[in-house]
Amino acid sequence: MSKVVKFGGSSLADAKQFKKVADIIKADEERCYVIPSAPGKRFGDDTKVTDMLYHCYDEVAGGADFAKSFAPVRERFNGIISELGIDLSLEDEFVKIGRNFASCAGRDYAASRGEYLNGIILAKYLGFTFVDAAKGIFFDNKGNFDGDITNACLGAILDRTPRAVIPGFYGAMPDGSIKTFSRGGSDFTGSVVAKAVKASLYENWTDVSGFLVADPRIVANPEVISVITYSELRELSYMGAGVLHEDSIFPVRSANIPINIKNTNSPQDAGTLIVPTGTEPASKYLITGIAGKKEFSVISIEKDRMNSHKGFMRRLLQVLENHGIFPEHMPTGIDTVSVVVNSHELEHQSEKLTERLVEVVKPDHFEIIDGLALIAVVGRGMRSAKGTATRVFAALSHADINIRMIDQGSSELNIIVGINEKDFEKAIKVIYDMFILSEQAEK
Ligand code: ADP
Ligand code: ASP
Ligand code: MG
Repeated sequence: MSKVVKFGGSSLADAKQFKKVADIIKADEERCYVIPSAPGKRFGDDTKVTDMLYHCYDEVAGGADFAKSFAPVRERFNGIISELGIDLSLEDEFVKIGRNFASCAGRDYAASRGEYLNGIILAKYLGFTFVDAAKGIFFDNKGNFDGDITNACLGAILDRTPRAVIPGFYGAMPDGSIKTFSRGGSDFTGSVVAKAVKASLYENWTDVSGFLVADPRIVANPEVISVITYSELRELSYMGAGVLHEDSIFPVRSANIPINIKNTNSPQDAGTLIVPTGTEPASKYLITGIAGKKEFSVISIEKDRMNSHKGFMRRLLQVLENHGIFPEHMPTGIDTVSVVVNSHELEHQSEKLTERLVEVVKPDHFEIIDGLALIAVVGRGMRSAKGTATRVFAALSHADINIRMIDQGSSELNIIVGINEKDFEKAIKVIYDMFILSEQAEK
């Protein structure tokens, strides 16, 4: 049985972190497949190598000299190599990257080199085989991840490679060019590799001791969630809990492989175990976690006897689809409908969209309101308990926070509230206090 271990950028930010990573891998010989991110921040206002590479690409595209723009990246990698004391030179790789920049290999190619180069260093340091993700992770012609081909090819390669380092974040298009996943995508690569090798466990090593009930940048010292289901995790990560990329549960979920989130800087901590629904113990608190995101807008439509206008919703959704806008939520009243969308999807097209909607759905009143934040309160425990919503609303109302939207999924796994962006942090804190601190006090 093998385990797949993914290390995030902060876990591989410098040589000191590389040593911790090697100790972790060597402590368990089942840790056979390693997914590195690019070196992340070493201190608060440091720059991640991925961001340095995007910057370098933009400079070179604007006419700057490659060697000069690439120098800080080169220094960062050479610094790690020399501090680790390994016999490795990346100079030929740097030259190749320069050539590929010149032949317009693209922005994704540029960004992916952080993981690629870090993978070469880590493989050398561990004595593992380096397997380029472009050889086993594939996208289709439309740029969508191709799970079937990837699973077959990567599975075959890793079958004959007992210990390997596979860089995260990228794969290859059918024409061989490099494409990356969205930011934070090494988590997804780890999940894909875990599925391909039929791992017993996918360990995701980061800089916190597990999935926390709330974002630690908002709530001081939040509780660690010891066990969470894939479905709960999906809700929380989709709603902004940045620990795991929102798509990373899909490959492992279909193969029933648990994920363990662990802390590279405190490996003895148990972390968070993510398991399929049906195998989880009862949750410790009524809620499992709280997450949220800012920058939503509400398209608010009023029309008398809306329900009697045949095809009203279809026409409305069609206009939105034609503008590339995907509703996040759609709370409805008898004569009203509010469509909550990501504000960035409206950028540069609010006026055109308004015109078209007025023309097609002929509303009595129409308005687009910006500045909405959404907060999701998630928990498998709320299915069997009454009064969860009441407590969310009470917490917000005591804090004088106006609720602008409410939505509860039919799975009864979450309650979503829309509030003004300015109240975002305060709302998360008071919901945390209401459910976690007060339940702790009762225990
Ligand atoms: P990595 O570089 O290891 O991939 P990330 O920065 O992507 O790590 O994710 C870990 C960070 O996610 C933490 O340092 C923390 O600031 C942030 N975070 C946001 N919400 C949560 C949460 N609910 N639990 C734990 N960490 C969270
Ligand atoms: N290095 C990439 C990023 O910064 C991918 C990752 O870290 O998962 O987004
Ligand atoms: Mg991450």
